[in-house]
Amino acid sequence: MKTLSLTARLPRFAQAWLPRRWRELPLVPERLWRKTLARHRFLQALDSAEQQRLRQLCRHFLVEKEFHGAHGLVISDSIALAIAAQACLPLLHLGGVGKAPGRDPLQALDWYCDFVGIVVQPGAAVAQREVTDAAGVVHRYREVLAGEAMDRGPIMLSWASVDQADAGAASGHNVVIHEFVHKMDMRGIALGQHPGGAPPLPRGFLDTHSEAQAKTRWQSVMQPAFEGFCEAVAMAERFGGEAPWLDNYGATNPAEFFAVTCEAYFVNRERFAVEFPALVTLYDGFFRPGH
Ligand SMILES: [Zn+2]
Repeated sequence: MKTLSLTARLPRFAQAWLPRRWRELPLVPERLWRKTLARHRFLQALDSAEQQRLRQLCRHFLVEKEFHGAHGLVISDSIALAIAAQACLPLLHLGGVGKAPGRDPLQALDWYCDFVGIVVQPGAAVAQREVTDAAGVVHRYREVLAGEAMDRGPIMLSWASVDQADAGAASGHNVVIHEFVHKMDMRGIALGQHPGGAPPLPRGFLDTHSEAQAKTRWQSVMQPAFEGFCEAVAMAERFGGEAPWLDNYGATNPAEFFAVTCEAYFVNRERFAVEFPALVTLYDGFFRPGH
């Protein structure tokens, strides 16, 4: 069985402190790369320069991250690469955190440098939750998760969900992109805060002239889009109207709305552009500056 050759090579600690250009990188065999692209049509649709850049980002990603299979799941090369390729997709045209793209495309990996571990569960994970309501009553419940991102902590993914990525693109779903976009969102918050669907923006974002202007610009598009989505979800639930495209989980809060809409932006741009034209312009300004 071909396992772990992409992920277990030189000890990670020996590589991690080296500047990226000096690291020993896994090769990502051509056949496996082609197979990974073919299994994800939204990756296959990238142009050849983008595919090449994605492959290079993946090689570094595989050095920088540590995969753990839970409940006996063996992390094969094909699993590791499928996750790496989707996780790196949002980074393709980015600069470093809150920076405009510079000469080094690898700087984009800094968006994920606050954590190392990626835990992959074979199926959905069940989390035990506890909340205390206003009356002081503690409610315990179980939540079924396809993925989870912890601020400055690991990412958890369900392989059963990740493996549906190609089929899920029609409805704008992608669990890997969802969780990694949460990570990007979290780069803009202090420890203990909740992300708000507003990643750190680069200088000059959409021709703005200051950080404050960039933030205002971002919110001026996100806020009405989020409110519109919540309204559509509420209408569908209360009056049986047509449910909006995309997971109504996006109506939970602005951070989930950002993550849910980014999934669709990356895996089904065509439909996303029809449903959320204002967000396409906003996200292009962020994810594809200068394109
Ligand atoms: Zn989420």
